[in-house]
Amino acid sequence: MKFARVALDVPLNTLFDYRVDATTDIDVGSVVLVPFGKKIAVGVALEIADASALAPSRLRSVLSVLHDVPRLPADVIAVLKFCSNYYHHPIGEVVLNALPTRLRRRNAIKSQPLAYRLTAAGRQINADDLPARAKSRRDLLCRLAAARDGIDAAALRAQMPGAAAALKEMIECGWVESFEPDPAAVDFSPPRVLAGPALTAAQQLAVESIRPSFGRFAAWLLHGVTGSGKTEVYLELIASALAEKKQALLLVPEINLTPQLEARIQSRFPDTSIVRLNSALNESERLRSWLAAQSGHAGIVLGTRLAVFTPMPRLGLIVVDEEHDASFKQSDGLRYSARDVALLRAKQRAVPVVLGSATPALETYQQALRGRYGLLTLAQRANAAIPEIATADIRGKALIDGLAQEVLHAIKENTKRGEQSLIYVNRRGYAPVLICPACSWTSGCPRCSVKLVVHLKSRQMRCHHCGHQEKIPAACPQCGGAELAPLGQGTQRVEAALTRIFPAARILRIDRDTTRAKDAWNQMRRQIHDGAVDLLVGTQILAKGHDFPALTLVCVINADASLYSTDYRASERLFANLMQVAGRAGRADLPGRVLIQTEFPQHPLYAALQRQNFADFAKGVLSERKQAGLPPFTYQAILRAEALRQDLAVQFLKRAAAGADPEMTEVTVFDPVPANMARLAGKERAQLTVQSRSRLALHAFLDDWAPRLEKLAERKVRWALDIDPQES
Ligand code: ADP
Ligand code: ZN
Ligand code: ZN
Repeated sequence: MKFARVALDVPLNTLFDYRVDATTDIDVGSVVLVPFGKKIAVGVALEIADASALAPSRLRSVLSVLHDVPRLPADVIAVLKFCSNYYHHPIGEVVLNALPTRLRRRNAIKSQPLAYRLTAAGRQINADDLPARAKSRRDLLCRLAAARDGIDAAALRAQMPGAAAALKEMIECGWVESFEPDPAAVDFSPPRVLAGPALTAAQQLAVESIRPSFGRFAAWLLHGVTGSGKTEVYLELIASALAEKKQALLLVPEINLTPQLEARIQSRFPDTSIVRLNSALNESERLRSWLAAQSGHAGIVLGTRLAVFTPMPRLGLIVVDEEHDASFKQSDGLRYSARDVALLRAKQRAVPVVLGSATPALETYQQALRGRYGLLTLAQRANAAIPEIATADIRGKALIDGLAQEVLHAIKENTKRGEQSLIYVNRRGYAPVLICPACSWTSGCPRCSVKLVVHLKSRQMRCHHCGHQEKIPAACPQCGGAELAPLGQGTQRVEAALTRIFPAARILRIDRDTTRAKDAWNQMRRQIHDGAVDLLVGTQILAKGHDFPALTLVCVINADASLYSTDYRASERLFANLMQVAGRAGRADLPGRVLIQTEFPQHPLYAALQRQNFADFAKGVLSERKQAGLPPFTYQAILRAEALRQDLAVQFLKRAAAGADPEMTEVTVFDPVPANMARLAGKERAQLTVQSRSRLALHAFLDDWAPRLEKLAERKVRWALDIDPQES
């Protein structure tokens, strides 16, 4: 008797045992139907065992194995198991969420065969014997007869859009059958590669350094300013992978996954099957991409974070573009970092992984400085000048609806020249921090290196990292000034103000709200390209994306709020965003200019930014982090809780803290604090940070602690563990 241990999409961290009768053809990774309660559920057999700990009377049987659905390969299962353990998320949810939705349904794939070929009977048929009017059938027969290895279902749909009826008839006649192609048997001759621009010396060096690591694990950081030609380096490496009959996985942030990028890649590799995997695809598109990747048919998989779990039998190279981007970390459900999982997969599959960025995550940069990742630098833009970055000092100056005179003047001049301007309003990391406008004193926590957050209602300031709390001072402790006020207020008015000040300008607002509709962002980009816009007003979303050739001026508003944010990562993010936003300016023949409106023109971040020197900035922040005992020199997990009332969430966190093993002295458990966004969607949120200098110690602690949390939570409290959190 065999037993299958099956992963099911339920929030319990366990596998479920089922009997398998001897004749059932089942293996690890098989997708199966099993009875679950009163329902029938789709699951994945993760283990096949000879025994079960359950009493025979309690065991039910696997109903069927879905042979139309390809088995999940062992390497992907191993990665999913790792993620379940490491991120403390139920194994069934991890596994089932990694499958395209369509495969999670009972009638999963019946309508989605993988490939078609002629049967023995079909090969006896001569197309000329078919009636002349049966044009589709004749055509189909010819195509299938010519294809030695059958034809991929997606390819067939592309070649013969109207073939469905003919196909069905011929399957019913027994002339054609669907099958799962064996990746090893398919002929993948090296594809055609069209030439790109001649590489610069720096690009060439990067390619030649990375190429020898094909066939083994190696991690590379490709640090290149925006527009320095990183993508060309990726394309060159992908060409090498394809030439070795390998597949390449290219991960990009959601916003960067544009039709333009896909077209750019496809035009370099005109015959290669490139599939896209991101959340914008509908179910059947996603399934098609996934199947093409897992059958080995797709040479290039271009996707967002979820694509990191895609089965790829011939995987030869992984690239993570904009590796610092926050969208690689999932912020609910399985809170994984796709960059970290990419590193894991590369190691497991013995392939190189290239992390590319103009402003690497400090975690990544630190690894490169320590020599764990190879560091390759592209210091110059490939075909444009580096923009000039300056600060607009607003100390003691009157602002017009939050905008400095100097900024307004620059916009006016730029518009007069017929060039586009971007007014970039920084909203990230905003939590009210107290500042003295007279001497620039800000409210710091005496225990940590972060700022205290103002809670006006209770007249308190609190540290959201360690929990320290004090009264709002009546006057500035440094200069005695009495005009203490929260920093960065009034940015909401900027858009309205611009409309009033520049009534003739065509203004386009770009943020999460205006780009929500499908294709909205693409349409806006077209408008910008066509010169139908004078002023762009936007938030983070604008920092990324594509070249706007007529955009020559970028004005940055409210950057200071991130300088003194309570989130210790805010300055790292700010630097990354401003570098990226600067990269939007003057990419073509027009020189670009960046103007940062600030109360702190001397701040080291702005100084490094003006010199466009990431290394200086990073080294400065890294030494601060080291002193303060913050990541990447320590490792963290945050226990997040939400409830209708703050005290319910906090009480749960207190019980959790009290339940920590006091013997584990290498781990610090901080006090519960309100979350930065303490109220969200009617729920009160609080959190507790756990931290250690040793990743091993932290995870030993979590392995002991996490399983006990469920019992401590009342039903009214929802909680989640966030490992290696990116937001505090
Ligand atoms: P990144 O990915 O670093 O932002 P890209 O690879 O997109 O940079 O390159 C930016 C621009 O420079 C693109 O228009 C690209 O075609 C061009 N480019 C890149 N490398 C070269 C090169 N070696 N010679 C000429 N143009 C190049
Ligand atoms: Zn002061
Ligand atoms: Zn503190």
